[in-house]
Amino acid sequence: MRQKTVLLLLLLSILLFGESMESSYEKARKEMVDVIQREVKSTRGYLGRERLGKNVIDAMEKVPRHAFVLPMNRKYAYENRPLPIGYGQTISQPYIVAIMTDLLDLDPSDRVLEIGTGSGYQAAVLAEVVKEVYTIEVIGELGVAASNRLEKLGYKNIKTRIGDGYYGWKEHAPYDAIIVTAAAGNIPPPLLQQLKPGGRMIIPVKSLFQVQHLILVSKDDKGAITTRQILPVRFVPLTGKH
Ligand code: SAM
Repeated sequence: MRQKTVLLLLLLSILLFGESMESSYEKARKEMVDVIQREVKSTRGYLGRERLGKNVIDAMEKVPRHAFVLPMNRKYAYENRPLPIGYGQTISQPYIVAIMTDLLDLDPSDRVLEIGTGSGYQAAVLAEVVKEVYTIEVIGELGVAASNRLEKLGYKNIKTRIGDGYYGWKEHAPYDAIIVTAAAGNIPPPLLQQLKPGGRMIIPVKSLFQVQHLILVSKDDKGAITTRQILPVRFVPLTGKH
């Protein structure tokens, strides 16, 4: 009887601890979103917008970033900065994830292709906003870990694949939007081809002296391409044979 009571008390305290951790993560997420919104406001001259859409704010407040970082970095999960995820790669800064998502002007019915799954965090944010997300990672170990993580978190609208994202994912094309989360030397022509007329792509592109800029690419209804330089950024490079 006494043993049972001790066990019950132990279980109860584990449950209560779990719940209090969850609510402190929730609070930290809200604070992170406040920081992002302030940064969006102060960079409105670059972004061409003052605030994030409600769909993006809701997604950023919902996705548990602490589940996408290495256990030793969990305490930093809701700081507005990139963090290492192993294999020389990083999970992007939350502000960057938010603005890249927002600049795509996504609709709930959209299908989006992401190049550079990494931890799977950006894919999860997208999956809260749109109908389907396709994401490609070139490092096998990262891709498998992200796929398992996303499955465990219950994301059913994300399809993952290991491969060189430079060539896109032709079988599921065309996409309403494409997001590239590693810096390319140019805008990959296969990705331009796989973008729907009327679609948008956001991609960091290297220019002179290795400076990178986030570029917003738009394809009009007739297939004509226009680009707009948004702001200087720093991403890991897009690797591969190209
Ligand atoms: N979106 C990720 C997240 O939310 O954690 C962060 C991406 S990290 C900045 C860039 C990722 O792009 C790395 O995981 C890297 O291995 C991957 N990558 C680099 N070149 C690639 C390629 N050619 N095809 C697919 N993924 C690539």
